[in-house]
Amino acid sequence: MTFSPHIIRELLRTSDHQLQELKETYALLPATRCRRKTHCCSMLPEMTLVEALPVIRRLVEMNSAMRNSLIQKIITYFFLNPVEITSCPFLEGQECRIYPDRFFGCRSYGLWSRARYEALAARDRKAKKHLQEQWKSLGVSLPKKVVDFQVPYCLCVETNGPEVIDDKTLLKASDRIEEISSHFSSRHQWFARRYFSDLSFLLSALMFGYTQAVQMKFTLVRDMVHTKDRTELDKIIQELPDLCEALT
Ligand code: SF4
Repeated sequence: MTFSPHIIRELLRTSDHQLQELKETYALLPATRCRRKTHCCSMLPEMTLVEALPVIRRLVEMNSAMRNSLIQKIITYFFLNPVEITSCPFLEGQECRIYPDRFFGCRSYGLWSRARYEALAARDRKAKKHLQEQWKSLGVSLPKKVVDFQVPYCLCVETNGPEVIDDKTLLKASDRIEEISSHFSSRHQWFARRYFSDLSFLLSALMFGYTQAVQMKFTLVRDMVHTKDRTELDKIIQELPDLCEALT
């Protein structure tokens, strides 16, 4: 019920057809420009397994210096996101380091109608409240500013041409991506249910082991909430092994 480097290698080797279908689905969305370029990239969006794979492949193919710096940011994000609003770990200055492979959540942001966006935001708020309660039951009160944080509705994204996109088309693309990812059957479900559709969780679990990653996160978050001391986290990040050696 958990991913190993072996499973990820196998998925990367056998998913060309699904990745091509994913590209074709992304191409249904119009090219856009944004006046507040990357200003809203404050969180790593949720994604399906098929969307995570091209990014993992991109990481594997990067030069090791760039990969190690990115992996450090991703693992830091995983451990810190309940206590701090940082930014998406793929954001570097005003550039997205994985722009050609960015997720549906990034591509559709700013294109939804206000009503639809508010419905999605309400769903996220509910999920965050639930998470907050789970942490509370373990004796940890997450900072209110993190629990309440939401990326606001955006009016700054415009399509490049005259093309207008509506919620129906976006939903169709979203459903199609879900369908492509469902090809990975139980693995698609594991990623959604056990890893909460979170690439930073998947990579941390591959790095440390699933249970160990969860236990480490609990200890680090609890200590950060109580003491704000990052010494232990910094030590872990400095000593990370090169995960991609296991994935190649
Ligand atoms: S993946 Fe790229 S576009 Fe998406 S939130 Fe992160 S930095 Fe922004």
